Amino acid sequence: MPLSVAVVGAGPAGFYAADAVLSSFPDAEIDIIEQWPAPFGLVRYGVAPDHLSTKNVTKIFDKILAKSGVRFVGNVNVGRDVTYQELKSIFDLVVISVGMEHPRRLSIPGADTKGVVSATDFVGWYNAVPDFVDCSASVSEAKSAVVIGNGNVALDIARLLAKTGSELAKTDIDPRAGQCLASSEIEDIHVVGRRGPAEANFSFPELSELGDLEDAVPVVDQSLFPVNLDGIDQSARKKKERNLRVLESFSRLVRGERKVRLHLRFCASPLKIVGEGHVTGINLGKNEVLDGVAKATGEEFLIPTDLVIPAIGYVSKPIDGVPYDVKTGQVSNVDGMVENGVYVVGWARRGSNGVIGTNRVDAREVIGLINPEVVPPKGSGVSEFRALLDSRNVKVVDAEQWQTIDMAEMSRAEGGRPRVKFNNIKAMLAV
Ligand SMILES: Cc1cc2nc3c(=O)[nH]c(=O)nc-3n(C[C@H](O)[C@H](O)[C@H](O)COP(=O)(O)OP(=O)(O)OC[C@H]3O[C@@H](n4cnc5c(N)ncnc54)[C@H](O)[C@@H]3O)c2cc1C
Repeated sequence: MPLSVAVVGAGPAGFYAADAVLSSFPDAEIDIIEQWPAPFGLVRYGVAPDHLSTKNVTKIFDKILAKSGVRFVGNVNVGRDVTYQELKSIFDLVVISVGMEHPRRLSIPGADTKGVVSATDFVGWYNAVPDFVDCSASVSEAKSAVVIGNGNVALDIARLLAKTGSELAKTDIDPRAGQCLASSEIEDIHVVGRRGPAEANFSFPELSELGDLEDAVPVVDQSLFPVNLDGIDQSARKKKERNLRVLESFSRLVRGERKVRLHLRFCASPLKIVGEGHVTGINLGKNEVLDGVAKATGEEFLIPTDLVIPAIGYVSKPIDGVPYDVKTGQVSNVDGMVENGVYVVGWARRGSNGVIGTNRVDAREVIGLINPEVVPPKGSGVSEFRALLDSRNVKVVDAEQWQTIDMAEMSRAEGGRPRVKFNNIKAMLAV
């Protein structure tokens, strides 16, 4: 009897895990279960619409999906359509790869004020996540924006806020979000980090491209330089030096005729959202950084703004019965093992860090630990699972049906766009 495996979540971690399972168990029957009718997780719904080459990784996932024994089971939510307990009793192995869908909340007074928009909502809006929260009003009413966080997601958001219509034209951005961003009146975008420029978690390409924007200029305080890197080990030092060179070059730029200033601000922690009924500003506390740790100086300042977007990380959405660590927002595990026959990979295992390729290493490590001798066979997982979903009238989207949706999205595209995504499940199922 071939090993039956349920992989829960069709993001990078899920695909890499399925591939790793096939390497260890070539005859395995693998169902990749996904809540949306479309696969690829954050590659489709997180990676910025202007970073099309990054999305080419889906070609690797297509090849994994085409392998014998691998099936896409889309439009099935574990927790809603099938329980975790049921999966455990039907499949020999369960691999959880549900990522982290919930934003880490900003816990300061006023964080619920209108005009504070989570990174999940904002990214979901421009990336056409099914049944997204419409952020058009928040953007079109804003004159300035503050993005909190010093990672690549913060840079993605700031860059898209700063881009012009022509820069957004050949992307796969949701067309209405694209129009709204292109006509936005925002002239000042502040990206704020708790620690200094040496501690920022920006990748070099994402940081550098801020210098190439059509109608925006990055602004960095010249007095931050030179930055002391004593005590930083050699491997980390090279990356930091590269980023610092870019930041220092930004500090010498002049705005000229450019409409938008994209301020990269460091050593400041959000203290309070200001505004009755709608955000009018954000109070921040100045920090000094000692040995990489931010310490409050006691000095405060205000940035007047009408849009605040915290991009400070993510947590997993708990699934009933799946052991969950409330403190970290991760699925509880020891080296990727959750319990007998259940493993976790990707962001759900290690938190919202690393690039797409990190999930490959992670999945191989975890799946490599599974000892074929100790996986007890339970019976015909795949057919039993199908019968269960049928009995519940769940409208499963398989790989072929996903390809039909995929082609329909591409055929909707005009003017150099690669695709126009359907932004709701009903439309996808209708196709
Ligand atoms: C805004 C943003 C931009 C990014 N940009 C880049 C980039 O440019 N380059 C890069 O290398 N990395 C980027 N990353 C990081 C990269 O996307 C992650 O490393 C990667 O997607 C994590 O893979 P994952 O499979 O663990 O999670 P995900 O990609 O989130 O996949 C999880 C999947 O599980 C599904 N799921 C969740 N719950 C259930 C359920 N109950 N039942 C069924 N299915 C479920 C989800 O729908 C999703 O498809 C970005 C991340 C974000 C948030």
